[in-house]
Amino acid sequence: MHGIIATWRMAKEGIEQGFEQLNQNGKASDAIETAIKAVEDFPYYKSVGYGGLPNEDQVVELDAGYMDGDTFDVGAICAIKDFANPISIAKKLSEEKVNNILVSYGAEKYAREHHFEEKEMLTDRAKAFYRKKKKELEQQAQELKPYDGHDTVGMVCLDENGTVVAGTSTSGLFMKKPGRVGDSPFVGSGFYADSEVGGATATGLGEDLMKGCISYEIVRLMKEGLTPQEACEKAVNDLDASLKKRRTVAGDLSVVAMNNKGEFGCATNIDGFSFSVATSDVEPTVYLVTRQGDGHCTFEVASKEWLDEYMRVRMAPVEE
Ligand code: ASP
Repeated sequence: MHGIIATWRMAKEGIEQGFEQLNQNGKASDAIETAIKAVEDFPYYKSVGYGGLPNEDQVVELDAGYMDGDTFDVGAICAIKDFANPISIAKKLSEEKVNNILVSYGAEKYAREHHFEEKEMLTDRAKAFYRKKKKELEQQAQELKPYDGHDTVGMVCLDENGTVVAGTSTSGLFMKKPGRVGDSPFVGSGFYADSEVGGATATGLGEDLMKGCISYEIVRLMKEGLTPQEACEKAVNDLDASLKKRRTVAGDLSVVAMNNKGEFGCATNIDGFSFSVATSDVEPTVYLVTRQGDGHCTFEVASKEWLDEYMRVRMAPVEE
């Protein structure tokens, strides 16, 4: 059994490529890197890699994390500028004995020394989104909402050898403060993998996802015997309830998980969450998730119309 699952529709082309490698008996570590790089490289996905939305100083700062569920090796970079593929740098860092998480200047120095591709990551399209948002904020004296324009690609991958890995890549919150880092590069929050159990990854408001160490919590629940679906729902619903109890509001929390048998699950506390998955039993598919009143989450295959409209919106000119 092998498989790969990812947050959001944007991962579809990536998981197709990664899944191809898994079908050829490829390693989970290679397949996940291929899959996340495909998302990072696509300029029309504005919350990951090239074309990612900038911070309030109009600088694109990227975060990524990687974990190997066999060895528990972890690597991550935070707030790195002008490198094409953050996931590859995070993965490389996971091979180091120490200094596994590097930020900003230190991450860039490491990436340069290891000859990772340097690239200006701020695109003209991202600049247009920035100008548009600035204008809107000024004109309407509007408050910037935390969920304005962001989504992380998070993936869990299982290969035929039973290795589970997890990884994330994101430009974080649009208009974030320089140096702001969310959950995505933090092991246990943005991602977690244990080949004896499975893996999980999260997207949403990083500041809140971190409060529940949600990816670790899902893997822990699966270890106790819950299915991926049960574990995802319990982790999201418990954290959502705790946040509301203590802070009156809960930010957006969305997760996916896969166990080491290739079974998968998802949960969310928002409308509009989607995920992409492929396993030995399921061809690459995008699912749309619906949260029911009781907190149970159901999912259905995205229609062709939905998929076409998604791409049309992503690629439409930015109207300033
Ligand atoms: N969790 C990411 C962050 O807070 C953003 C997202 O997944 O939408 O940086």
